[in-house]
Amino acid sequence: MELVSWLLVISIVSYFLDMAEEYLEKVKINNLPRLPLEGSIDLTYRCNNNCRHCWLRIPPESQEKKDELSFEEIKGVVDEAKAMGCRKWSISGGEPMLRPDFFRDI
Ligand code: SF4
Repeated sequence: MELVSWLLVISIVSYFLDMAEEYLEKVKINNLPRLPLEGSIDLTYRCNNNCRHCWLRIPPESQEKKDELSFEEIKGVVDEAKAMGCRKWSISGGEPMLRPDFFRDI
């Protein structure tokens, strides 16, 4: 076989090896478990401050208060995430301590 033919064969084989490697890498990644290791939750959008830059300047006693998740709903979300592997939470708001149930044990 001529040199040009060998180079062609080598380049075709190399192309398919690259494709195979790419496929195997993709399969490996797709088979990794998807764990929500960290969660973030805003307990309320109400706040007793009124910072100019903030988009969450909802007064503490506003109507939106009734639309917030209950303690049981939040606990359900946290428990479900925990069962899926979530181990770390960041809690924010608004001012999360405006909630009377803030110090309950989640
Ligand atoms: S949520 Fe934070 S930034 Fe916004 S008004 Fe309250 S204290 Fe200020």
